[in-house]
Amino acid sequence: MARYTGPVCRLCRRDGTKLFLKGAKCFSEKCPVEKRNFPPGQHGQSKKVKKVVGYGLQLREKQKAKRIYFTLETQFRAYYQKASNRTGVTGELLLQQLETRLDNVAYRLGFALSRRQSRQVVRHGHITVNGRKVNIPSYQVKVGDEIAIKEGSKALIILEEAKNFAAGQSSVQWLEINRDNFSGKVVALPKREDVNLPVNEQLIVELYSK
Ligand code: SF4
Repeated sequence: MARYTGPVCRLCRRDGTKLFLKGAKCFSEKCPVEKRNFPPGQHGQSKKVKKVVGYGLQLREKQKAKRIYFTLETQFRAYYQKASNRTGVTGELLLQQLETRLDNVAYRLGFALSRRQSRQVVRHGHITVNGRKVNIPSYQVKVGDEIAIKEGSKALIILEEAKNFAAGQSSVQWLEINRDNFSGKVVALPKREDVNLPVNEQLIVELYSK
């Protein structure tokens, strides 16, 4: 299935929760989840709201995680397989892999206003890891890696706006952020409490382990 390119606020309204796909708008009163908190479409306001349970609930959690991190089904399943083959809590290891994607790290460091924008910044070759250009959004960063904006790219992207936006967000414990020269270092791997997103990873594990 191809990547979804339609209006992203509909996805939040479908899940009934904020997925933070649009940067600053997500934190403002313009957010459609605040203004119209019912599913999109002609029958969205219908009083017959079905209660989602069991498989439906597990599926929704998986869809939420996929949408937040902009991954496709095959790649997401590969993350799960890798997590389930490792020693530890599978759900946490799954989230850890998603968090350490280069596009997510660039977003956490304040190089872009949203993960979607961050993906584009990486794709267009504006990011370096340990001094070398990396343009693969799914690249997995490791402890000790230094991530920065390429010198010649600083003037091209809306860094000041992103910097101010990121400064208003809660700090990220596993990254050492240098907001003044747009760089950062991975000082630890993210733990569950570092992932402040509305995802129940246990339900995703239950879905895939059937
Ligand atoms: Fe749109 Fe962001 Fe609100 Fe989601 S959280 S509905 S992406 S503004």
